[in-house]
Amino acid sequence: MKLDNETKDRLIAAMAETIASHSGELTDLDRAIGDGDHGSNMKRGFDAVLADRANLSAKPLPDMLKALGTHLVMTIGGASGPLYGTLFMALGKEIPAEPSLADASRAFAAAVNAVKARGKATTGEKTMLEVLQPVADVLQAGASNPAGLGERVKAAADAGLEATKPMKASKGRASFLGERSIGHLDPGARSSQLLTHAVIGVLAAQPALEGARSS
Ligand code: ADP
Ligand code: MG
Repeated sequence: MKLDNETKDRLIAAMAETIASHSGELTDLDRAIGDGDHGSNMKRGFDAVLADRANLSAKPLPDMLKALGTHLVMTIGGASGPLYGTLFMALGKEIPAEPSLADASRAFAAAVNAVKARGKATTGEKTMLEVLQPVADVLQAGASNPAGLGERVKAAADAGLEATKPMKASKGRASFLGERSIGHLDPGARSSQLLTHAVIGVLAAQPALEGARSS
């Protein structure tokens, strides 16, 4: 599958749009169990990406993803900047310029592993990994069964986000709250779920992914 420049541009615009329109909600979630800056952090990062969209979308896919990750590291700050930066930079490092679904799934799984290593975290700790890991798992399982994959990926992201609510945080600022972190959605899991929906929304409209579209 080759993503043309217009599709890469649409991916960037869709990610930036969902972060901008949910920035207040992300900040409210972070106010409950963190320091109330996740929305503004993410918006700053994706605004920088959006401002560079013409340059980014003209690059081959791996280079675009690496450059996008670099923007995020330089602008988001906080805990999530290096982690989202790692996700996109590792994805760019692992993915070929014209990936098959299997290539993309493998690269995404490797990128999620890089996030785990960077943050010394795993699933069950109430972080963005509650969404990223199930998305990686469903993608890998779906490489051999692509029908309706987009819908399954979105459902996995939604379920992963909901699962953060009863969890007690053991990584990041929310871990300082101990038991009091229970009962709130994790802000980073919400931003990961939003980004997942945005990416699937664009890719599902791709003729090359017809097979991955839900019927
Ligand atoms: P900060 O916590 O520095 O204020 P943000 O508010 O932007 O940064 O991001 C908080 C989010 O980062 C959390 O909701 C969580 O999902 C994610 N996070 C924090 N630490 C880790 C970690 N070690 N591994 C994975 N995700 C993490
Ligand atoms: Mg914060």
